[in-house]
Amino acid sequence: MKFESNIGDYLKENEIKPSFQRIKVFEYLVDKMNHPTVDMIYKELVNDIPTLSKTTIYNTLKLFVEHKIVSVVNIEDNETRYDADVSNHGHFKCSKCGKLYDFNYENSNLSIKNLQNFKIEKTHLYLNGICVNCMD
Ligand SMILES: [Zn+2]
Ligand SMILES: [Zn+2]
Repeated sequence: MKFESNIGDYLKENEIKPSFQRIKVFEYLVDKMNHPTVDMIYKELVNDIPTLSKTTIYNTLKLFVEHKIVSVVNIEDNETRYDADVSNHGHFKCSKCGKLYDFNYENSNLSIKNLQNFKIEKTHLYLNGICVNCMD
């Protein structure tokens, strides 16, 4: 995802007060695009912001999720990751290197059985396997 607008303005547009820490957390998400956990963000940002706590990061992400500028990626039960790309896309997790890949798909190409007459509002497509870089 390319992020071209100013992060402070983007937060304001989404009714979030752009505090320094919030800007830093969002900047991390769009710069790295690595679907980080709270710990990953903390380890990186605490160098710049020694007063930062994991709770602050957690609460900041929660706020972003509530305002729909970040989505939660729960590919494994014990691991919550965050994604600043809120467009419809799937995630593939490599079981060898642990990397999470984004991929695109069309909802209309999914052939879902047994849900005739249901209205599907959201899809989360998670795939596990071995990525091309880990294949010998
Ligand atoms: Zn891999
Ligand atoms: Zn993603």
